[in-house]
Formats: sequence, structure tokens, C-alpha cells
Amino acid sequence: MKISHIEHLGIAVPSIEEALPYYENVLGLKCYNIETVEDQKVRTAFLKVGDTKIELLEPTSPESTIAKFLENKGPGVHHIAYAVSDGVANALAECEEKGIRLIDKAPRNGAEGLSIAFLHPKSTQGVLTELCED
Ligand code: ZN
Repeated sequence: MKISHIEHLGIAVPSIEEALPYYENVLGLKCYNIETVEDQKVRTAFLKVGDTKIELLEPTSPESTIAKFLENKGPGVHHIAYAVSDGVANALAECEEKGIRLIDKAPRNGAEGLSIAFLHPKSTQGVLTELCED
């Protein structure tokens, strides 16, 4: 696969409203989009850092995987997303061939309408990894 850059870092927070003042007023980043991804039961806020983004993830339901993450580990870095320039489907096929455990067998729609897929942290040196359309 061809990774062009880190598309975003996903950070789990209990509340986007409470987290944003740190990112905006201390780090001086600008939130340019907030959207809810219904099927993942999360609200996301995006801030740009050069070519990379910070994706704040807030659970919208106690069944959200983000709610479970916050319960177990508290707020913090949740996943890293790499932009792949030769297609998420290709990258997934390559990962599967190399014995990587996939969370998503096929690409699906993530925030910002991009095609995404997750790899299981048990196969990725402990880091939940997202592959993202470049
Ligand atoms: Zn993400």
C-alpha cells in the first residue's frame, strides 16, 4: 500500500464542548466541522494541523465503542489514521494477505464522507489503525 501522510489522529473525549477550548484557545487550532456519525454512535469534531487533522470523538450513546474506551482507559489517543493513495480496498486486501486481523472486511463510509477501514490493534502493535482514502 502507499501511505501518503497521517490523515488524522482520533482522540476520545467525554465532551467535545469541554475539550475544544484547549485545542482552540491553547493550541490555537480551529475546529472547522462537527458531525455525528450515526452508525458509530459518535459525534466528531475536526481541527486542521497542516496536512493532518485531529478528530475528537465523543460518544452519543453508552453502547458506543468510544464510551467503552473512555470507561476503560479514560480520555486520550484512540486511533491513528493513515491516508492511502492507492485505495482502501487494495490496502485491506494486502493486509489480509499478510495475516493482519481486520475489523472491517470492506471499506465503509466514515466521517467527512471518506472511505475508511479499521485494522485490529492485536495485529498492529497495539495501535488501533484506520486506513483512509487519500
Ligand atoms: Zn478516525
